[in-house]
Amino acid sequence: MKPDIERVLFSEEDLHKVAQRLGKQLSVDYADKNPLVICVLKGAILFMTDLVREMDIPLEIDFMDVSSYGDGTVSSGEVRILKDLDTSVFQRNVLIVEDIVDTGRTLSYLMKLLKTREAKSIKICTLMDKQDRRVMNVKADYIGFEVPNEFVVGYGLDYAQHYRNLPYIGVLKPEIYENK
Ligand code: 5GP
Ligand code: MG
Ligand code: MG
Repeated sequence: MKPDIERVLFSEEDLHKVAQRLGKQLSVDYADKNPLVICVLKGAILFMTDLVREMDIPLEIDFMDVSSYGDGTVSSGEVRILKDLDTSVFQRNVLIVEDIVDTGRTLSYLMKLLKTREAKSIKICTLMDKQDRRVMNVKADYIGFEVPNEFVVGYGLDYAQHYRNLPYIGVLKPEIYENK
């Protein structure tokens, strides 16, 4: 284990199992719907690639990059589009794939935006849900794990752009960011 990680929350095996469980469910729910699976960069990229491999149906993928966090661990409240979709969502069944829903500001903004673009349906699949910290009224339709109010890294999630490549999800030692 990397010295900066206090403890592992979800192992590679846990993550694999959750992608299998959700992928199986999504394959049933989206059979014949040709969903547009939207990966919210950068955090959701590892989860999304594992998830779509468990979806045994026709689908398309696209990417969107929005920012609500700087390099810190507290949401700024500000959401900006850094990269927009290549694909039109008009009359499409959209599935947003997120790494973690925290305050809900990012997804609330995204949902509103995709609604104005007249998607046929919009659902959210998130690897993790931090319910305690919700500020906006956002509910994920598919949830991998409920997580406590702790800052987690790995499997796509960063702290100051690092740790995304860890194959597991762990809690960062508080001293890593407390001294910044
Ligand atoms: P929200 O807009 O819901 O407050 O924040 C969503 C984004 O903040 C997530 O997609 C994620 O990128 C980041 N975030 C929230 N909680 C955590 C966390 O515990 N660890 C990391 N690395 N990022 C987080
Ligand atoms: Mg994210
Ligand atoms: Mg981040």
